[in-house]
Amino acid sequence: MSRWIIVSNRLPFKLKADGTFAQASGGLVTAIGGIHTEGKVERIWMGGAPEGLTELNWSKKKTQQAKDDWQHLPVFVDETLYDEFYNGFCNDVLWPILHYQNDFVHFSDHAWNAYIKVNQLFAQKLAAFAKPDDLIWIHDYHFFLLPQFLRRLRPDLKIGFFLHVPFPSSEVFRQLPVRETILESLLAADLIGFHDYAYLHHFSSSLTRILGIDSSLLSVKSGAHTTRLGVFPVSIDTAEFKSKAAKPEVAILEKRYREKGQFMFLGVDRLDYIKGLDLKLCAFKSLLERYPEVRGKVSLLQVAIPTRTGSPEFIKLYQETSRLIGEINGTYSRPDWTPIHYIYNSVNSDELMAIYKASDALLVTSKRDGMNLVALEYIVTQSLERPGVVLLSEFTGALSTLSHTVRINPWNADDTADKMKLAMEMPKQEKIHRLQAMQKYLDGYTATDWARLFLQDLESTTPAAQGAELFLPTRDSVDELAKKIATKMGNNGKVTLFLDYDGTLVPIEESPELATLPSSTRQWINDFGKRPWLNLVMVSGRDARFLSKQFSGTEIPLAAEHGGSFLDISKNKWIRRVHQPRTTWYQSAQKIMSHYSMRVPRSRVEKKRFSLAWHYRQSPNEYAGYMARKLADELETGLANLPVTIVRGKKVIEVRASEADKGVFTNWYLEHYAPSTFPLAFGDDRTDEDMFRAVRGRSGMSFKIGVTDTSADYMLEVQAQVLPFLSALIGRLDRLLGTNATAGAGRAPSQRMELVPTVAHQPSL
Ligand code: UDP
Repeated sequence: MSRWIIVSNRLPFKLKADGTFAQASGGLVTAIGGIHTEGKVERIWMGGAPEGLTELNWSKKKTQQAKDDWQHLPVFVDETLYDEFYNGFCNDVLWPILHYQNDFVHFSDHAWNAYIKVNQLFAQKLAAFAKPDDLIWIHDYHFFLLPQFLRRLRPDLKIGFFLHVPFPSSEVFRQLPVRETILESLLAADLIGFHDYAYLHHFSSSLTRILGIDSSLLSVKSGAHTTRLGVFPVSIDTAEFKSKAAKPEVAILEKRYREKGQFMFLGVDRLDYIKGLDLKLCAFKSLLERYPEVRGKVSLLQVAIPTRTGSPEFIKLYQETSRLIGEINGTYSRPDWTPIHYIYNSVNSDELMAIYKASDALLVTSKRDGMNLVALEYIVTQSLERPGVVLLSEFTGALSTLSHTVRINPWNADDTADKMKLAMEMPKQEKIHRLQAMQKYLDGYTATDWARLFLQDLESTTPAAQGAELFLPTRDSVDELAKKIATKMGNNGKVTLFLDYDGTLVPIEESPELATLPSSTRQWINDFGKRPWLNLVMVSGRDARFLSKQFSGTEIPLAAEHGGSFLDISKNKWIRRVHQPRTTWYQSAQKIMSHYSMRVPRSRVEKKRFSLAWHYRQSPNEYAGYMARKLADELETGLANLPVTIVRGKKVIEVRASEADKGVFTNWYLEHYAPSTFPLAFGDDRTDEDMFRAVRGRSGMSFKIGVTDTSADYMLEVQAQVLPFLSALIGRLDRLLGTNATAGAGRAPSQRMELVPTVAHQPSL
């Protein structure tokens, strides 16, 4: 039986005064509980233990468990630690920054450390509990670090993350001192979901600006791992709200609340600075000012639900709200009319349904709001006999799906007042038309659909552990690999080793001229190239002149310009392998590229015989990255149908004759010079992928330098590993094949293999 493990800040049940436990209702419980699985899925909820629950009385809960659909997995967090984590970091740092309220952010290392600790605690517990096929669904900003902590312990799990609040613009998010750690951690998830496209877009631009990682908005690659991204606007349990609103008790209350001859605006918000109560009151005041004729005919019923009451921000907000209400009521009230009715308390379900139905319009003026469920609830509880209007702030996530609301910018009090007046005068037919459109949507897309769609997407992701295998060169692993190659070598008993130059044989340098061949590496090539069972072939994007200079004194075949020309060592002659004339495209491409090198500082065009490359390694990162995409697009359009290929490489855009292709060259070389040999390829760039595919087509083996998405069989972490690894591999093969190494015995020029550093993919905690 498969299992879904939901992780949230708190377990969804309460400890009652009599010591028993009550399942708390909540959107998430209903959403996931409502998915029909025909008993094939076990649902497990992991979260912080509710207040009052101790490890001791937890055993009692366990005995009641048979009655629950859910299995619960409480995490017991020390009270002081939890306070630092929840109030100190979640509420005092993440909540305000995610809602654009930077003035309320109080960052401290102490609180950050508590946040790390609680996330680690959850990761450990989850890693020990989860089985290989479990789906893990992490909820909200309390657990930004959980995806990575968990991934390190359990690379095999499918991990989903959903953010219930906004993801702010990168301009705001980048102010967070620990921004890199949070983004890096999230990328360890397989799927990240947001309520709104705008949040996804902001997340994506934060990745680009802060980590330098580009996403397609559908997915993002970091190293070898791909994280899918998606927009999943949450919904509500439509049927449940409809039936609650239809209760006879609600009808009685509704009648009582309705004020005869008055148009009632309703507000239902937690008393939180994000809800914009000050803006709402200003707009209401503006309505009374701009349209004196509505005085006595309009009222505002505002429910403000107390929340996080202890903090100084909320005390201030409470005082300010009361003051504003007092001011408006004091100014405009008449003996027979009070403009604002204020409830600073929660209301029960019947009362809530009744005020939804008794009011004439809902007024939502949030400054930022992840979604705003009140608006959805209001819509589904309206009857077409007495349809209400929804005025919805454009700073809510709900706005993008609630298409027929009256959209308001709450920061413009006068305009909001005008829209309120419009709502008061809206013909019934229009109200019905608007409501019907939105009710239809909410009938067809409920909370359960939301949860099901997310879980389906998560299910269909590829677990992080799959893909090309990361090769860690150790004595044993190299031995094993050598044996594998020896078995595959076949009758001929020879290996053809294709080696890329930049980023493979030599490290990438800031400027291409600096990447010259060290004499020790030249010596290494001479030693290894002499083995009777080995053909060593250089395959590079560099031009013939550069390669000839670097490899003078060696006797290995050289393929320049991605195989566009080739140095046949036996004839000591360069062969041109590109036959189509370049006249059709070379000049046009050069013209386009030089335009870009003029506009982007420190970028330049490299002119080769069969290709042109626009380099921007030293240019300002973001601007040049943007211009590179634009250039590639322009080249693709401008040179369409010509015999060229446009390659987006590492900090380079290259246009080259289609015949100059490392894959085409690899096949050609193997057919003409090394038939029936075993091909082995090493490369680091996009152009090497063509070579890897050719090698794969001939049942060879390939290695990508760098941990990234690749069609190679294996990945090596860093360039510094290449020569020590190859030395060790060739040494083992020498022994297996019984051949004696020739002069020099091929020592690696740099470190011994065991000393090669590996890169740890860990956040800088
Ligand atoms: N609600 C409540 N107590 C009340 C009035 C309303 O719990 O006295 C509920 C309301 O039905 C809605 C939720 O609180 O489901 C508020 O959700 P919303 O997304 O609008 O705002 P949030 O409080 O999550 O920021």
